[in-house]
Order: sequence, then structure tokens, then C-alpha cells
Amino acid sequence: MKRTKNTSLPSPCWLLNESLLIQNLDVMQKVKEQSGAKILLALKGYALWKSFDTLRPYLDGCCASGLHEAKLASEEFQKEVHTYAPAFKEEEIAEIAEISRHMVFNSAAQFKRFAQKAKKINPQLSLGLRVNPEYSASPKEIYNPCGLHSRLGCTLANFDKSILTDLDGLHFHALCEQDADALEAVLENFEEKFGAYIPKMKWINFGGGHHITRKGYDVDKLIHLIKQFKKKYDVDIYLEPGEAIGWETGTLIATVLDIVHNGLDIAILDTSAEAHMPDTIIMPYRANVRGAGKAGEKAHTYRLAGNTCLAGDIMGDYSFDMPLKIGDRVIFEDQMHYTMVKATTFNGIKLPSIAIERLNGDIEVVREFGYEDFKERLS
Ligand SMILES: *Cc1c(COP(=O)(O)O)cnc(C)c1O
Repeated sequence: MKRTKNTSLPSPCWLLNESLLIQNLDVMQKVKEQSGAKILLALKGYALWKSFDTLRPYLDGCCASGLHEAKLASEEFQKEVHTYAPAFKEEEIAEIAEISRHMVFNSAAQFKRFAQKAKKINPQLSLGLRVNPEYSASPKEIYNPCGLHSRLGCTLANFDKSILTDLDGLHFHALCEQDADALEAVLENFEEKFGAYIPKMKWINFGGGHHITRKGYDVDKLIHLIKQFKKKYDVDIYLEPGEAIGWETGTLIATVLDIVHNGLDIAILDTSAEAHMPDTIIMPYRANVRGAGKAGEKAHTYRLAGNTCLAGDIMGDYSFDMPLKIGDRVIFEDQMHYTMVKATTFNGIKLPSIAIERLNGDIEVVREFGYEDFKERLS
């Protein structure tokens, strides 16, 4: 592990700021204490496991989307492991059951195939079913688990009452970067559809997508909704945010390699939208760049683009007070969630290093990648 200063960090590099992470965790702690809910980290969104020592005291465990995330949770987080998958594979059931506290099935058919086998392996295991409340105000269809023809969660029409005797809990995940108002609307639909079964349950999992740590999120309303629900049904409540844990806790630092001109000035960086920040293309969204404005807002406008051969590997157009020079560092804000968990070695591009700025200001480079990481994924 290397200790270094910000200016001498390798490039590209993700830099987590531990004190910002703790600010988010303080909000989670408040929600837990005042509502009585348990909060899990969704590894799908944030799995920087070298920061788990910081997260562990504040959270109850992790939610995993299959065997690999469950193993990471079990090895590195070592608290509750809740595993859900759109479909479990027979050969993975035993290993998942052994390390999980909750196992959540996506369909009654999967529940019937695997629940008993899993329970035999781990008698402590609590069994759940993910349901689809068929209501969501998700802003983007690709992130809408309740959209038309969604495969995620069992609809009321497909709900098979024969599994009720073995069922401990219900799970829904219907939000994406949304406020407590949206949860309230989802809860209304969830209760309308599945209300008859809720009193039979030990727990209800409200999924992720709660934008709890975003400025303006109504934390008190979330607490109120959870308390009200707990009181009404006498069940344990779980939340499993991913994005809200890593929200605005760190950056992706890149370097300008060249500047070319074709109708506009284009800065080629040593990172990639496609490989390192794919949501900028998929969602799409525009990351904030430190010190930069919208195109034309400041004196010098550039298109920031990636160092792969994909024509569309573009972060966006940004303006700066001073002209960019080769070797300048460009800092993308809010790059901790849905970035390193999605990153690829597409085009052989080097994965960004991972560094953590500790509370005392020390920066530790906790991981660097090289050619081997590219080669080992191929054969
Ligand atoms: C993606 C996901 C989460 C986390 O969602 P965030 O938007 O990152 O909070 C939680 N639970 C399930 C089942 C998910 O698919």
C-alpha cells in the first residue's frame, strides 16, 4: 500500500474520501436509530471492500445479487448477508444458503425448487419472495424494475399461496434515485396488492433506490413511513441502498493526454466513459467536473472524451476558465457508485487505481491495475 499526496496519485484513479463517506453513514445511523429499520449496503452499486471497515459499524450487512457478491459480503463485511437473484442456479444454492441470512427468490417457481434445499443446508436461513408492486415512478425505463414486462419480482397475478407456509418475508425494489414521497406511493400499491399477506411476515424489505443522502431528501418522512409501517404490521423493516451510501463521496481523477480539433476542441483523457463511468452513456447523465461549467459558460470549452476507439466514448462538453493543457488533471465528481463495480478493460484500457483519503488526510492507494488484469479476463 502506497501513501501519497493528491497531486502524485496515479492516473486515472478513483479517490474515496472517508470523511464524506462517514457523513452519509451518519444519516443512515439516524434513520436506523429513529425508525428501527435495518440498513444493508447494496453491493451492486458500491463494493469498494477496502472501505468496509469504515462502513461496518454503521450498517447491518450487505445485500448481494448472487454468489459472488454474497461471498464478498461474507468474507469482507462479515455481518448479515441477504442474497437475491433474478434466478438462482442449482449448483450455487448450497454455497449461497450457507453464507446468507436471508435468501430472496424472484418467483414462486424458484422458491418451490430451491427453498427447502437451502433451508436444509442452513436452518437459520430466512426465506423471502421479491414481489412486484407494479407501481413505480422511476425516472428512466432501463432502471424501472416495475416497468412493462419486468422480470423482477413476482406480480400479484403470479403469487402462489402454497409457498406462504414457508415464507418469512416479502421484498420489493421499485425506486431509483427517489425521494420518500415515491416510497410512500410504492407502499400504497404494495399494501393494496399484498396487504393480506404482510401480517404473516417476519420482515419486509423496502429495497434500494432511496436517495437518502441527497440534499433535500426528506429523511424525517422516510423515518415516519417506516415507523408507521412497523407499527401497523409488527414486522422488521430492511432498506438496502447502494447509491445513497456512496453518493458524493469521491472522484475519478484523469489526465489530459492530447487535445485535437474538429469543429471543436476535444480533450482526450486517460480514462473512458464507456469503460469507467458507463452510466454517463447508458443513463445518460453528465458528471460534474471540478472547476468546470457547461459548454460556453466559461472562456474555454472542450469536449471531454475517452481513450478508447469507441466513437461515442464521450463524457460531455465542458468549459474552463483557463485553457486545458496536456498533463492537466480533470476531476469528475461523485464517481464512487456504479462506476468501479461496472468498470471493464474494454479496448485494453487500464482500470483506474483505487485510493482512499483517510480521516487524517493520508491517502492510501489501495489497488493498482495493470496488463495482467486485462489478460486474465480473457483466454
Ligand atoms: C440495485 C438494487 C439495490 C440498490 O439500489 P440503489 O439505487 O443503488 O440504492 C437494492 N436492491 C436491489 C434488489 C437492487 O436491484
